[in-house]
Amino acid sequence: MKKLIVASGNKGKLKEIKEILDGKYEIISMTEAGFSGDIEENGNSFYENALIKAKTVSDALGEDALADDSGLCVEALGGAPGIFSARYSGVGATAKANNQKLLNALDGVLDRKAKFCCSVVLYKTSGEIISGYGETEGSILYKEEGDGGFGYDPLFYSSDLQKPFGLCSDEEKNGVSHRFRALTDLFKKL
Ligand code: IMP
Repeated sequence: MKKLIVASGNKGKLKEIKEILDGKYEIISMTEAGFSGDIEENGNSFYENALIKAKTVSDALGEDALADDSGLCVEALGGAPGIFSARYSGVGATAKANNQKLLNALDGVLDRKAKFCCSVVLYKTSGEIISGYGETEGSILYKEEGDGGFGYDPLFYSSDLQKPFGLCSDEEKNGVSHRFRALTDLFKKL
Protein backbone atom coordinates (compact mmCIF):
# COMPACT_ATOMS: atom_id res chain seq x y z
CA MET A 1 0.00 0.00 0.00
CA LYS A 2 1.18 3.55 -0.75
CA LYS A 3 2.66 5.37 2.24
CA LEU A 4 1.56 8.88 3.14
CA ILE A 5 3.31 11.09 5.70
CA VAL A 6 0.95 13.24 7.73
CA ALA A 7 2.38 16.48 9.13
CA SER A 8 0.64 16.35 12.50
CA GLY A 9 1.36 15.35 16.04
CA ASN A 10 -2.31 15.52 17.04
CA LYS A 11 -3.33 11.96 17.99
CA GLY A 12 -7.05 12.61 17.44
CA LYS A 13 -6.50 13.91 13.92
CA LEU A 14 -4.05 11.13 13.02
CA LYS A 15 -6.49 8.46 14.19
CA GLU A 16 -9.31 9.93 12.10
CA ILE A 17 -7.15 10.42 9.00
CA LYS A 18 -6.01 6.78 9.32
CA GLU A 19 -9.61 5.59 9.61
CA ILE A 20 -10.84 7.77 6.72
CA LEU A 21 -8.05 6.68 4.37
CA ASP A 22 -8.09 3.08 5.59
CA GLY A 23 -7.24 0.69 2.77
CA LYS A 24 -6.08 3.49 0.45
CA TYR A 25 -2.91 4.68 2.20
CA GLU A 26 -0.65 3.59 4.99
CA ILE A 27 -0.54 6.67 7.21
CA ILE A 28 2.82 7.53 8.78
CA SER A 29 2.93 10.36 11.31
CA MET A 30 5.66 12.98 10.91
CA THR A 31 7.24 11.71 14.14
CA GLU A 32 7.34 8.14 12.85
CA ALA A 33 8.87 9.51 9.63
CA GLY A 34 11.66 11.18 11.64
CA PHE A 35 10.49 14.81 11.85
CA SER A 36 10.85 16.31 15.30
CA GLY A 37 11.08 20.05 14.66
CA ASP A 38 8.69 22.79 15.70
CA ILE A 39 6.38 24.31 13.13
CA GLU A 40 5.29 27.91 13.55
CA GLU A 41 1.68 28.13 12.40
CA ASN A 42 1.66 31.82 11.54
CA GLY A 43 -0.73 31.74 8.60
CA ASN A 44 -3.95 33.74 8.43
CA SER A 45 -6.25 30.93 7.33
CA PHE A 46 -6.74 27.19 7.72
CA TYR A 47 -5.34 26.79 4.20
CA GLU A 48 -2.19 28.84 4.90
CA ASN A 49 -1.46 26.93 8.10
CA ALA A 50 -2.03 23.56 6.43
CA LEU A 51 0.35 24.59 3.64
CA ILE A 52 3.01 25.75 6.14
CA LYS A 53 2.85 22.39 7.95
CA ALA A 54 2.83 20.21 4.82
CA LYS A 55 5.68 22.16 3.15
CA THR A 56 7.86 22.29 6.29
CA VAL A 57 7.65 18.53 6.80
CA SER A 58 7.98 17.72 3.11
CA ASP A 59 11.06 19.94 2.77
CA ALA A 60 12.67 18.46 5.89
CA LEU A 61 12.08 14.81 4.94
CA GLY A 62 12.32 15.04 1.15
CA GLU A 63 8.95 13.26 0.85
CA ASP A 64 5.41 14.28 -0.06
CA ALA A 65 3.46 15.31 3.05
CA LEU A 66 -0.19 15.86 3.92
CA ALA A 67 -1.34 18.34 6.57
CA ASP A 68 -4.69 19.19 8.14
CA ASP A 69 -5.46 22.53 9.72
CA SER A 70 -8.84 22.70 11.33
CA GLY A 71 -10.89 24.36 13.98
CA LEU A 72 -14.22 25.39 15.37
CA CYS A 73 -15.93 28.59 14.16
CA VAL A 74 -18.73 29.92 16.36
CA GLU A 75 -21.09 32.40 14.70
CA ALA A 76 -21.90 34.46 17.82
CA LEU A 77 -18.16 34.82 18.48
CA GLY A 78 -17.45 36.18 14.99
CA GLY A 79 -15.91 32.88 13.87
CA ALA A 80 -13.68 32.39 16.95
CA PRO A 81 -11.79 30.36 18.01
CA GLY A 82 -11.21 29.54 14.29
CA ILE A 83 -7.53 29.09 13.43
CA PHE A 84 -6.71 29.60 17.12
CA SER A 85 -8.83 26.60 18.23
CA ALA A 86 -5.92 24.53 19.56
CA ARG A 87 -4.54 27.45 21.62
CA TYR A 88 -7.86 29.15 22.49
CA SER A 89 -7.09 29.24 26.22
CA GLY A 90 -3.31 29.51 25.78
CA VAL A 91 -0.39 27.78 24.08
CA GLY A 92 -0.36 24.09 25.01
CA ALA A 93 -3.94 24.32 26.31
CA THR A 94 -5.85 21.16 27.15
CA ALA A 95 -9.17 20.36 25.47
CA LYS A 96 -10.86 20.68 28.87
CA ALA A 97 -9.55 24.24 29.33
CA ASN A 98 -10.55 25.21 25.78
CA ASN A 99 -14.03 23.77 26.24
CA GLN A 100 -14.48 25.63 29.53
CA LYS A 101 -13.37 28.89 27.91
CA LEU A 102 -15.87 28.35 25.11
CA LEU A 103 -18.70 27.66 27.57
CA ASN A 104 -17.80 30.84 29.46
CA ALA A 105 -17.70 32.88 26.24
CA LEU A 106 -21.19 31.62 25.35
CA ASP A 107 -22.65 32.05 28.82
CA GLY A 108 -26.16 33.47 28.30
CA VAL A 109 -25.82 33.37 24.51
CA LEU A 110 -28.79 31.73 22.78
CA ASP A 111 -27.39 31.71 19.22
CA ARG A 112 -25.03 28.72 19.47
CA LYS A 113 -24.61 28.00 15.74
CA ALA A 114 -21.12 26.71 14.89
CA LYS A 115 -19.19 24.74 12.33
CA PHE A 116 -15.98 22.77 12.19
CA CYS A 117 -13.76 23.72 9.25
CA CYS A 118 -10.83 21.81 7.79
CA SER A 119 -8.25 22.51 5.11
CA VAL A 120 -6.02 19.71 3.95
CA VAL A 121 -2.95 20.23 1.80
CA LEU A 122 -0.80 17.65 0.05
CA TYR A 123 2.60 19.17 -0.65
CA LYS A 124 4.64 17.24 -3.18
CA THR A 125 8.43 17.31 -3.43
CA SER A 126 7.92 18.61 -6.99
CA GLY A 127 6.38 21.75 -5.45
CA GLU A 128 2.88 20.78 -6.56
CA ILE A 129 0.16 21.69 -4.06
CA ILE A 130 -3.19 19.89 -3.93
CA SER A 131 -5.75 21.05 -1.39
CA GLY A 132 -9.20 20.21 -0.13
CA TYR A 133 -11.72 21.90 2.15
CA GLY A 134 -14.63 20.69 4.23
CA GLU A 135 -17.08 21.91 6.85
CA THR A 136 -19.62 20.30 9.14
CA GLU A 137 -22.41 22.26 10.84
CA GLY A 138 -23.92 22.14 14.26
CA SER A 139 -24.29 24.03 17.52
CA ILE A 140 -22.56 24.38 20.86
CA LEU A 141 -24.09 22.47 23.76
CA TYR A 142 -24.53 23.92 27.27
CA LYS A 143 -22.31 21.23 28.80
CA GLU A 144 -19.99 18.46 27.63
CA GLU A 145 -21.74 15.29 26.45
CA GLY A 146 -19.81 12.02 26.07
CA ASP A 147 -16.11 11.53 25.58
CA GLY A 148 -15.92 10.40 21.96
CA GLY A 149 -13.59 12.08 19.47
CA PHE A 150 -11.25 14.78 20.71
CA GLY A 151 -10.96 18.54 21.25
CA TYR A 152 -14.33 20.32 21.14
CA ASP A 153 -16.31 17.19 20.16
CA PRO A 154 -18.11 16.81 23.53
CA LEU A 155 -19.53 20.34 23.09
CA PHE A 156 -20.52 19.99 19.41
CA TYR A 157 -24.04 18.91 18.47
CA SER A 158 -23.94 17.69 14.87
CA SER A 159 -26.77 18.84 12.61
CA ASP A 160 -26.14 15.89 10.27
CA LEU A 161 -26.23 13.23 12.97
CA GLN A 162 -28.64 15.00 15.35
CA LYS A 163 -26.43 14.17 18.32
CA PRO A 164 -23.24 15.36 20.02
CA PHE A 165 -19.99 14.25 18.38
CA GLY A 166 -18.94 13.20 21.90
CA LEU A 167 -21.65 10.51 21.83
CA CYS A 168 -20.95 9.32 18.27
CA SER A 169 -18.98 6.29 17.18
CA ASP A 170 -15.84 6.94 15.13
CA GLU A 171 -17.67 5.68 12.03
CA GLU A 172 -20.57 8.08 12.55
CA LYS A 173 -18.33 11.12 12.99
CA ASN A 174 -16.05 10.10 10.12
CA GLY A 175 -19.05 9.90 7.79
CA VAL A 176 -19.96 13.58 8.14
CA SER A 177 -16.89 15.32 9.55
CA HIS A 178 -15.14 18.38 8.16
CA ARG A 179 -11.99 16.22 7.94
CA PHE A 180 -13.73 13.52 5.90
CA ARG A 181 -15.20 16.16 3.57
CA ALA A 182 -11.86 17.95 3.15
CA LEU A 183 -10.03 14.69 2.39
CA THR A 184 -12.76 13.63 -0.05
CA ASP A 185 -12.41 17.00 -1.80
CA LEU A 186 -8.62 16.62 -2.00
CA PHE A 187 -8.53 13.01 -3.15
CA LYS A 188 -11.01 13.58 -5.99
CA LYS A 189 -8.39 16.00 -7.41
CA LEU A 190 -5.60 13.40 -7.40
P1 IMP B 1 -4.56 22.62 14.51
O1 IMP B 1 -3.75 21.44 14.96
O2 IMP B 1 -3.85 23.92 14.59
O3 IMP B 1 -5.21 22.37 13.17
O4 IMP B 1 -5.74 22.77 15.57
C1 IMP B 1 -6.87 22.00 15.49
C2 IMP B 1 -7.70 22.23 16.75
O5 IMP B 1 -9.04 22.48 16.35
C3 IMP B 1 -7.74 21.00 17.63
O6 IMP B 1 -6.72 21.02 18.60
C4 IMP B 1 -9.13 21.10 18.25
O7 IMP B 1 -9.10 22.02 19.31
C5 IMP B 1 -9.95 21.71 17.11
N1 IMP B 1 -10.50 20.66 16.24
C6 IMP B 1 -10.19 20.43 14.93
N2 IMP B 1 -10.88 19.39 14.44
C7 IMP B 1 -11.61 18.93 15.48
C8 IMP B 1 -12.51 17.84 15.59
O8 IMP B 1 -12.73 17.04 14.67
N3 IMP B 1 -13.09 17.69 16.80
C9 IMP B 1 -12.86 18.52 17.85
N4 IMP B 1 -12.00 19.53 17.81
C10 IMP B 1 -11.38 19.74 16.61
